[in-house]
Amino acid sequence: MSDLNPFAVAQKQLDQCAKILNLDPGVQAMLRLPSRELHVSIPVRMDDGSYKVFQGFRVQYNDAKGPTKGGIRFHPDETIDTVRALAAWMTWKCSLLDLPLGGGKGGVVCNPKEMSQAELERLSRAYVDKVWQIIGPENDVPAPDVYTNPQIMAWMVDEYSKLAGKNQFGVITGKPLALGGSAGRGDATARGGLYTVREAAKECGIDLSKATIAIQGYGNAGYYAAVLAKELFGSKIVAVSDSKGGIYSADGLDPEAVGKHKEKTSSVVNFPNTTAISNEEILEMEVDVLLPSALENVITEANASKMKAKIIAELANGPTTPEADEILHKNGVHVIPDFLCNAGGVTVSYFEMVQNFYMYYWDVEDVHERLNKKMTVAYHSVLDASKKYNINMRQAAYVVAVARVVEAMKLRGWV
Ligand code: GLU
Repeated sequence: MSDLNPFAVAQKQLDQCAKILNLDPGVQAMLRLPSRELHVSIPVRMDDGSYKVFQGFRVQYNDAKGPTKGGIRFHPDETIDTVRALAAWMTWKCSLLDLPLGGGKGGVVCNPKEMSQAELERLSRAYVDKVWQIIGPENDVPAPDVYTNPQIMAWMVDEYSKLAGKNQFGVITGKPLALGGSAGRGDATARGGLYTVREAAKECGIDLSKATIAIQGYGNAGYYAAVLAKELFGSKIVAVSDSKGGIYSADGLDPEAVGKHKEKTSSVVNFPNTTAISNEEILEMEVDVLLPSALENVITEANASKMKAKIIAELANGPTTPEADEILHKNGVHVIPDFLCNAGGVTVSYFEMVQNFYMYYWDVEDVHERLNKKMTVAYHSVLDASKKYNINMRQAAYVVAVARVVEAMKLRGWV
């Protein structure tokens, strides 16, 4: 069985890329490790008056191209190695989209589903109290990730502003619109991913207006992907799932109605007139496009050969292991790799930073147009590299992204 530690996966992917680019071993060694990481213990008073100590992290992976950037995840299974991997992938993501940013990530080991809003607010503020000295609009800019949201970003920006003694909206992105957020940030990850699906469908000769789609995960990315795939392309969403299970309908689902059902019951499961399916089954369904939109390591050497989708668009970070990648490539599946496919979120986060610095805010049409351009250019740079070097799409994404980071490091005289 292969190593499913996400950071081991991220390092293995980088090592493959180093070989293709013929990287100097010293440069490769620098790129294999985070530049800085902070581990914190976060005491929080719970509603019953007791105190709990949560473990938290902030990892700044590489800032050669600019301030580090990347979300904060609240999750019971969070580990330092998950945060390291996600921070590495943020570095490659920002580089691939040609953003003037490096990569970072944060995390807290906690289960927000079992916490009250008041407890979540105290945890969010306490996390900022512990890491505020190393973040900032010009050095490291957090954002939402799994189980964090605009309200949490609002508490965090408020706490940081109090510590800094002035409003510092640019310290965090993914904020609510009323507090320096950007139009179009809410659905940006899904929308950006679908722009790359549109380009991939042209490449694969698939008519998206007749296509079937399955979506594993129904959080921010998965939900908006379902809504927008129907709205933008007229595709049929035949199956969706979340951590509790999945649903299937041959006639197609109404994504908004499923979203409302999930809001009420906390799951997509038991949505009327659907068949129950498992998270494993949804990945192996016969559809045109599969969108893994939840967590890491769901496509492995154990199930990759059973995948029947023509396009796999990775809205999640790290859903596919290197061994599974080889199998999918051999089987002719067109994979849109995570740090290309899900880069819409950080791209609009970058637009949010620009608007915060300018104190001038764009219309949603402007945001969509700029996002479309960025995602389309990035997709084609990866497709071109995959053809030029005869490598799979993930390796191609690495080649483009890593070469740019190395160029910046060379220009700065680091190597
Ligand atoms: N958490 C998102 C990601 O993994 C967004 C990061 C950001 O906006 O900085 O890309």
